[in-house]
Amino acid sequence: MEQAYDAVIIGAGPAGSAAARTLSSARLSVGLFDKAIFPRDKTCGDALIPDAFHALSKLGLTQRIAGISHAVHGMRLISSDGSDVLVRAHGACMQRLELDELLLNGATETGAIFFPGHDFIRVFDEDGKYYRVEFNTGQGIISNRAPWVLLATGAHPAPIQRAGLLLNAECRSFAVRQYVRNERLAKDFNELVFVFDTTVKGGYGWIFPGPDAVFNIGIGFFGSAHKHNNPRRNYESFIAKLPLVRELMRDGEIVSPLKGAPLRTGLSGTRFANGGLLGIGECVGTTFPLTGEGIGKAMETGILAAEAIIAERHLGRAAVAQTYKRSMDALQPKFEVYRKAEVLFNWPYLTNKLVKHTRENETTRGKVEALFNETSDPAFLLTPSGWAAILFH
Ligand SMILES: Cc1cc2nc3c(=O)[nH]c(=O)nc-3n(C[C@H](O)[C@H](O)[C@H](O)COP(=O)(O)OP(=O)(O)OC[C@H]3O[C@@H](n4cnc5c(N)ncnc54)[C@H](O)[C@@H]3O)c2cc1C
Repeated sequence: MEQAYDAVIIGAGPAGSAAARTLSSARLSVGLFDKAIFPRDKTCGDALIPDAFHALSKLGLTQRIAGISHAVHGMRLISSDGSDVLVRAHGACMQRLELDELLLNGATETGAIFFPGHDFIRVFDEDGKYYRVEFNTGQGIISNRAPWVLLATGAHPAPIQRAGLLLNAECRSFAVRQYVRNERLAKDFNELVFVFDTTVKGGYGWIFPGPDAVFNIGIGFFGSAHKHNNPRRNYESFIAKLPLVRELMRDGEIVSPLKGAPLRTGLSGTRFANGGLLGIGECVGTTFPLTGEGIGKAMETGILAAEAIIAERHLGRAAVAQTYKRSMDALQPKFEVYRKAEVLFNWPYLTNKLVKHTRENETTRGKVEALFNETSDPAFLLTPSGWAAILFH
């Protein structure tokens, strides 16, 4: 039977669940649909950086992750010449299987109704006021109606195309990850480790410590560098070469197969809105270029879209879409800087210099810390004087 809601949300990842909690907290009726049965895994590095904490705080959910995530207090950068630097950084890691379940519960407890096993097929405008959204449940096609539809289906282009928001199907980034348990090394390991190495040309490798002594190890390529690489083979070379990873693997236990997924980065390749249909999270490219972090911005854009609907729904579709687009445009400059800075990954000489300079120069270290904590303008990464200081130090 057809149901009507104030909002239909397609996809119950961080973007969809954050939007659902925000809308249902404002007493709007929300149908939240996902093709998966939860809890479901999502291939990810599992690191929560400061923007994720801002969003969680806005959702009133920070305390819930405190006891079940693994807190980190630093970020170690290792360059291809083997040198490294540790900078202050506050974050946490927890597996997406658990984080996304927690966020989904946050949405349903405020009144959103969740429908797992619903594969989005298409959406169309019925009468200028309501959209009809169709799903395949495996047992047949069902449809729902709502004046507002939020698309939150992540990086894969097919649903974005079916919703009419896709401009460019290409995902410029791709990453693989694996879980490894190592009780011995997990003791007092509270840093996010980023590795710039020639085995991952065009990207970086990572070692992120999670709860229960399980490390998330992976590599990611940016600026379409995965097209000239074989991520699985590069990963094998990465884990064979890096001393820390070799040690982790040697007396650790592999607890998951290697899994890969595309990342839609750079706030590009899609329209943010078409009337009362708004794209949120990674389906509209909210994952950062350069770093691949996207959980925080997925939640943030879900909240922004929900707030635009709550505040301006009485003014109609155009007003809501415009407000949401303005909020998204305000995020653009940072994404642009990160996208341009991806060139760094093609020049090991530059990353070596960056690590060295960060270690030896307090001002640069402060800038890198501020960059991670989102308290400064990252534009210094692109200024000639910034690079001159790094290169000729
Ligand atoms: C290997 C890897 C490592 C990463 N590491 C990090 C990291 O450490 N930190 C970080 O912040 N970010 C990281 N990211 C990015 C992060 O995973 C994404 O930015 C984030 O998941 C985006 O959230 P989302 O809610 O937009 O989409 P998703 O989390 O992808 O959720 C989309 C949801 O939509 C559902 N869906 C899809 N299609 C349909 C359909 N047709 N019908 C109904 N439902 C559908 C899916 O089942 C899913 O539940 C990483 C990504 C990768 C690939």
